[in-house]
Amino acid sequence: MVRKELVDLLLKGAVCITPTRTLARSLARQVNLDLAKKQKAWSTPKISALDDWLLALWGAFETKGKTCVELLTLQQALLCWQTVIAQSKSGFFEVRAMAKMAWQAWVQLQQWQVAIGDLVIDNADQATFQQWATHYQTWLNSRKLIDSTQLPKALLALMAARQGGVVVLYGFERLVPLIDHFFDKLSSNGWAVKQLDPLPKSAQAQKMPFKTQLEEYQAVARWAQKLCLQGQTQIAIVVPDLAKQRSKIASVFKDTFDLSFAPTMRKSADFSISLALSLAQYPLIEAAIMFLKIGMPTLSLVEYAAILTSCFTKGSQTEQFARVAHVCFLKSLPKEMISLKTALSFIKPEQEATLSLWSKVLKALLNYEDLTVAKTWAKWATCFNELVAIMGWPGERPLDSIEEQVVKGWHTLLSMLAQYEITGAKVSYAKALSALKALAAEIPFEPEHPVTPVQILGVLEAAGQQFNHLWVTGMQSEAWPLPICPHPFISAAFQRIQKMPHASAEQERIYARKITKRLMQSAKEVIFSYPLTQDEKRLEVSGLIKELPLAPPFKKPALPLPKVSLETFYDDKAPALAENEKHGNVSTLALQAMCPFKAFSQLRLKAVRWDWQDIWLQPAQRGILLHAILESFWRKFKDQSTLKQCDEKALNAYLEKLIEQKLLKVIHEAAPTLYRQVEKKRLYKILQDCIAKEKQRAPFVVVATETEKKIALEGMVFTLRLDRIDKGADNSLFLIDYKTGKFKMANLWGMRPKAPQLPLYYLATATLAPCALWVTLLDSQSCQYVGISANALALPGVDLLDQLDEDGKRLSWDQLHGYWSLRLGALARAFQRGEASVSPLEGSRTCQYCQFSSLCRVKEHI
Ligand code: SF4
Repeated sequence: MVRKELVDLLLKGAVCITPTRTLARSLARQVNLDLAKKQKAWSTPKISALDDWLLALWGAFETKGKTCVELLTLQQALLCWQTVIAQSKSGFFEVRAMAKMAWQAWVQLQQWQVAIGDLVIDNADQATFQQWATHYQTWLNSRKLIDSTQLPKALLALMAARQGGVVVLYGFERLVPLIDHFFDKLSSNGWAVKQLDPLPKSAQAQKMPFKTQLEEYQAVARWAQKLCLQGQTQIAIVVPDLAKQRSKIASVFKDTFDLSFAPTMRKSADFSISLALSLAQYPLIEAAIMFLKIGMPTLSLVEYAAILTSCFTKGSQTEQFARVAHVCFLKSLPKEMISLKTALSFIKPEQEATLSLWSKVLKALLNYEDLTVAKTWAKWATCFNELVAIMGWPGERPLDSIEEQVVKGWHTLLSMLAQYEITGAKVSYAKALSALKALAAEIPFEPEHPVTPVQILGVLEAAGQQFNHLWVTGMQSEAWPLPICPHPFISAAFQRIQKMPHASAEQERIYARKITKRLMQSAKEVIFSYPLTQDEKRLEVSGLIKELPLAPPFKKPALPLPKVSLETFYDDKAPALAENEKHGNVSTLALQAMCPFKAFSQLRLKAVRWDWQDIWLQPAQRGILLHAILESFWRKFKDQSTLKQCDEKALNAYLEKLIEQKLLKVIHEAAPTLYRQVEKKRLYKILQDCIAKEKQRAPFVVVATETEKKIALEGMVFTLRLDRIDKGADNSLFLIDYKTGKFKMANLWGMRPKAPQLPLYYLATATLAPCALWVTLLDSQSCQYVGISANALALPGVDLLDQLDEDGKRLSWDQLHGYWSLRLGALARAFQRGEASVSPLEGSRTCQYCQFSSLCRVKEHI
């Protein structure tokens, strides 16, 4: 329901000005609906956000040739600030961020009509800002430019000669002095300026606490969904810090509104979030900016592959398979960076037919004009558009309505880049591209869409609007009133005296009280909610809603079940192994223990992640390397006494030579010499620590190293390579396993032992009756032993067996064989039978680095 007075004024030609675009849009909708009930035809009501109205007025004067200065866009003004800051040599590296801060301070001062010379200076940063502001103003004056903060003043001069009209200020909570002065002057020039507020709705507002913010968001999403399903409209949710909370609340709403599996029940289109995403967050724009990297002298292979397989390129569908195959080839190359020329040379003559469209694109790009010379901003904007067009952007598929709008957004983005022309500078390709990227990340873009029943809004956008149902979240005392944060470039005391926003607690309280009151009158049903904890910290309700009555505890509404019958089918059984497939190794059991589905995918489906070729050593390669070095080492020295007798200098020289020799076999030829030296040093330290430790042990002889053994378990044959077997002075045997990663003794126990190596070695050598087994941890921090023994060995880290089985009974050394036979036998049986359930041993910890999560869809299972 809109005020009759306002509608009458609008019908008489008055202009209605609102503080925000959202309010302008919603008011225009309501006025039109009201008028549609009474009249058949009417002229479009003039309702506009303040900024848009001022710009439209300026545009009208400009068209008539009445203006004698040029108005900068926001982006141009920011670029001017960047230029001023960069020229000031003030030592700030983040020029772009600094320019934004300076611009905010400038806007504040202009709005409060404070002359730069009148600033109170408290510190060096404020003094620097004062200098920048002076330079900025001089810069504008010398070029006959003004920015948006100077627009009201410039308009007053032009409007003085114009016949007055009626202006209605609608829903303003406070007017900054500059705008107050502007409308005062208009009044004295014969304009009628009226102030109107929305009609208050009488509502019984209530407050509702929740344990956490997540619970609060889930409750509000369910509440909104329930109202939607009842056919209700004009449901609003207010989130005070919407910019920060956007992704969180969006994901809760999406999950809740898409809760049902039946596609007909999916209701994401029922809600919208007022805070627009930036242009860069739209895949089409992100792709276009990525495409432009191809114009750089070189780009990474990974980026090139992403461009090649992007669905927004020419031939993306026709050449889909050939391009994927080409990327597989690229992944086998060690090169990190490539040029356009190299990229073309990678397409072999026999591939020309299947990659003809892409090779044409590459040739056209190579023949394009020289991109290494500096050009003007406008010229780069044209080049960027032509380059993406050569690559076939936005692709071959038909665009949907949002994508059509995003393509228009791309052209707006380029025209904004062209407006940087104002600096008169010529810049490099890299600089222009980086500016384009930054611009895209800054420009909010909201495609037009039908009005949704549920709107998620910020506080300022909601205040002044009328709804049927309203829920205001985040009403804890820490967040509402907003915390004070005076601008660092203006003296805090000065800001307080001037009553600038966010400068004093008192000021914020007064403002928040007004907004809260207005929100309370914005709907028939109003709920204010707040979380009671955040990061284990207790929160209090905001003092502004403390007196409200408590709403009844929130009950999760029952949602209608989808009208389709769903059948659950657990598909966790693969075919059993054929007789000739019943063989494996330690990793068969390790993978089966870790997750049966992982073992099935990796060992039976042979699924592999196609990784990029890397010139750096991978963890597995490092492990193999150390094993190889230690094998050669102990084949030479054979026992501890020979090792101890060896001269220290000779030992070290031998070690260095051995490392060099083995390293050369595995390290990539393209690896830089410096990397090779660092790796060599690292290995040398690990091995020196390990040898020093071996010297401190009781005397021993190495009886086997990297020995192959076979063991039959439940009808499967496992082939193992035992890292090492040592013999003590009393002929007792010790099984040793080398590890370069983390290891815990706990990994040997349980129904699915996570590290079955030592248990399997133990079973394979049972006839030799080993008396101890341990892992030698080879780590650049320190070398350690971790293991168990039948008798005390006086070897730090190797302790007497002290382990309980699942029934709480203590295990003896003699029971180890039975214990591990049973458990490893069960794993072998499960693998043979094709048991492939999605059952990660340690839940999400096991899945963290697993490459099969999209294959097993573990998230759906959890
Ligand atoms: S992601 Fe987790 S559940 Fe899926 S296969 Fe890997 S370990 Fe198993």
